[in-house]
Amino acid sequence: MKDLLSVLRDWEAVIGLEVHTELTTLNSKMFCSCPVEFGAAPNTHVCPVCLGLPGALPVPNKAAIESIVLAGLATNCDIEKQTMFYRKNYFYPDMSRNLQVTQGPVAFCMRGHLDVEVSGIAAKERQFYEGATLLDEQTGAYVAHINITRIHMEEDAGKLIHVGGTDGRISGASYSLVDYNRIGTPLIELVTEPDLRTPEEARLFLQKLRQTYLTLGISDCSMEEGSLRCDGNVSLRPRGVKEFGTKTELKNMNSFKNLHDGLAYEICRQAEVLESGGTVRQETRHWEPAEKRTFSMRVKETADDYRYFPDPDLAPFDLSDEFIQQVRARLPELPDAKKRRFIDAFGLAPDVAGSLAGDVAMAAFFDAAMSERPVLLAKPVANLLLNEVAAYLNASDVSLAEVRLTPLGLSELAGLLLEEYISSKQAKQVLTLMAESGEAPLQIIEKHGMKQVSDTGAIDALVAEILAANPDKVVEYQGGKTGLIGFFVGQVMQATKGQGNPKLINELLHKHLDG
Ligand code: ADP
Ligand code: MG
Ligand code: ZN
Repeated sequence: MKDLLSVLRDWEAVIGLEVHTELTTLNSKMFCSCPVEFGAAPNTHVCPVCLGLPGALPVPNKAAIESIVLAGLATNCDIEKQTMFYRKNYFYPDMSRNLQVTQGPVAFCMRGHLDVEVSGIAAKERQFYEGATLLDEQTGAYVAHINITRIHMEEDAGKLIHVGGTDGRISGASYSLVDYNRIGTPLIELVTEPDLRTPEEARLFLQKLRQTYLTLGISDCSMEEGSLRCDGNVSLRPRGVKEFGTKTELKNMNSFKNLHDGLAYEICRQAEVLESGGTVRQETRHWEPAEKRTFSMRVKETADDYRYFPDPDLAPFDLSDEFIQQVRARLPELPDAKKRRFIDAFGLAPDVAGSLAGDVAMAAFFDAAMSERPVLLAKPVANLLLNEVAAYLNASDVSLAEVRLTPLGLSELAGLLLEEYISSKQAKQVLTLMAESGEAPLQIIEKHGMKQVSDTGAIDALVAEILAANPDKVVEYQGGKTGLIGFFVGQVMQATKGQGNPKLINELLHKHLDG
């Protein structure tokens, strides 16, 4: 099969995403007061309403409506005041009512957009993209403006657990169990226009959407646990042609990488079908990461098959201006605005600012660490967070909230680093100890005798000693083998037990050797 770049030379890929997000941060389900909780004992969070027992009537969850309105406002949607719930009728064993409550033609949120910045290697694909706003002529970085069709509200189904097969799949299983806990969990589905042009854009869009939802605090957005799931629709058209080709849909992509790789594979597969004179069938396909291929799941149903009709148990909505105003007032600072502020107020580099702003916990920690502290500290604080702290959290598999590091402690450490009181290598050790003990950096440095040696006199003496002990190397260095400087630095550093100020050591060595 051809590779993605060569396919994209002849064909334009057209991609649209459907993103399902469970509102996991709410106390209760969409139409009843059962709790929303991942991993609870099976069938312990159910009641007559969510199971659909006779006579049980639904009551909409106000907090869920607030959440979807927040999502709409954060993605530049128009909020529709007059909207209602519909029933979508079909049988599925984990959906005991044989219907799913969803929305009709008018959803709570309509006609939005998100702008996605594409840079790096992915920006090279820009040559295949028309209509993007170029950010940087040299690197090819650009902004893709992705329109959002709608965000509607629906309820989730339960879960089937297939026992006895491989990887929990139904094929080969000896029996299946039903867990209804998830049934009725409020779900918002965002649908994009077919505006994405490359798998990388799709990945970046999903990432930005996830950052936005996490900033809003409406979901834990865990792709692993299934609270954020994405379907990728993709078709090809010859370059220069306006009409869309027939699309296929990749269901339930559960990681950014799978979304990207599945779309890339599907683009290449469709190109092969079309180039050999075949036609693409409109169907739902499944991406199998282990086998690196997609296979057909089913030919798609049409909307009519579901017999949509307005839900007679749920009155139409007429949201008040006041309600929408109240929700708008709750909008937090969104990732783009945060990034801008980190650049403007703290002088951070755009990529550093973007990485910080994209992580809710890191950004809040940064703000707390910088509160009433000199701007000078911003760069070392940001670098420590994104490099050393992130590495520590990763290695110990904990979150920022779980470690004993404090924002004040971090900014103190950044200050010590800036003053060259300690080396960056020492800072890493101090940070680990801070995270574990919660002690202040100075306390730790004193306790472990880690202060960086910046005493010119003392280091100068050590430099002279080392050079005297290695006369042959000094001759080689002065004869042009200047790479030996590393050897000398290493020797002096060892003599200081790793506590020498590397900058000072370098300076003094050069003074002796070149002087
Ligand atoms: P369906 O009814 O099959 O679910 P929709 O029209 O609702 O299709 O669109 C679903 C998703 O597919 C949307 O994100 C939309 O942007 C995208 N889409 C629609 N047509 C195409 C196409 N020809 N190629 C790629 N994506 C498409
Ligand atoms: Mg669809
Ligand atoms: Zn219930």
